[in-house]
Amino acid sequence: MSIAKIIDGKLFAQNLRTDIARRVAELKDKKNVTPGLAVILVGNDPASEVYVRNKNKQTIEAGMRSFEFNLPAETSEEELLKRIFELNNNPEVHGILVQLPLPAHINEDAVINAISPAKDVDGFTILNVGKLAIGGDAFIPCTPLGCLMLLRDSVGDLSGKHAIVIGRSNIVGKPMAALLLKESCTVTIAHSKTRDLPSILKTADIVVAAVGRPNMVKGEWLKQGAVVIDVGINRITQPDGKTKLVGDVDFASCEGIASAITPVPGGVGPMTIACLLENTLQAAKNIHG
Ligand code: NDP
Repeated sequence: MSIAKIIDGKLFAQNLRTDIARRVAELKDKKNVTPGLAVILVGNDPASEVYVRNKNKQTIEAGMRSFEFNLPAETSEEELLKRIFELNNNPEVHGILVQLPLPAHINEDAVINAISPAKDVDGFTILNVGKLAIGGDAFIPCTPLGCLMLLRDSVGDLSGKHAIVIGRSNIVGKPMAALLLKESCTVTIAHSKTRDLPSILKTADIVVAAVGRPNMVKGEWLKQGAVVIDVGINRITQPDGKTKLVGDVDFASCEGIASAITPVPGGVGPMTIACLLENTLQAAKNIHG
């Protein structure tokens, strides 16, 4: 049994952040511009708080400015929109991110689409989604962008490969499929109503799993030598009562069949913030010519 190459997303993301820091310093030097990222968190969801703290830390480490707004859960939609309009007009801010999910009384679509598309470093506004759908230049949602970078690094030319994306969410599955199509893959999108997923997976050279179901994809479903990208982050309780993070892919049964596979944790996860920084740097460059 050959063992798959483990795709080290942690190392890849670290190298990417080092390179971003170099390019940020270059931009400061040449144009006297410091990229700035504003992150808005409404309420106090503990997982979001940890994630936002990491974003701020890594933004500063990359030499960028970090603007953090921790707003109370009862913030009105109007107040939030006002804050976004201020940030749209703030020349020190090049990227704006609103941490999701928002409290139920706020219309998420209205808030996201209030962000200037030029500062929409999450790639969630209708304009950026539409541009990606027609194969244009857009800000690409950070997690799928991270997956694409790992795939390009592992596979090289993706053209003509059969890629299956499991999951069709707006933040991962759909943009991932659009990106793979842009790379000239033959793309299949699977979801909860897909029939006989195992036999479809048998034909795939590339599998991207973004489902949210622990260890769902089994080794015997894979084509020999497939490259597997596991986006899933699931916390499970083990028999001894301790919790553990696992992906959507059953790593143990897949690593003997796949030619390369991302682990969880340490695969796709670290790529998301690194890609957010990449998009913020790009936004600053776009705005300052
Ligand atoms: P969503 O819940 O929004 O979407 C899940 C998708 O999986 C849906 O399209 C759903 O289909 C599909 N699905 C559910 N059950 C099955 C099944 N049995 N067979 C095939 N498809 C199925 O999740 P997200 O896209 O937001 O996230 C997916 C996973 O990725 C989660 O574990 C999440 O934590 C993780 N994640 C990780 C990130 C990272 O930085 N690494 C970032 C974002 C997410 P249908 O549409 O029919 O309901």
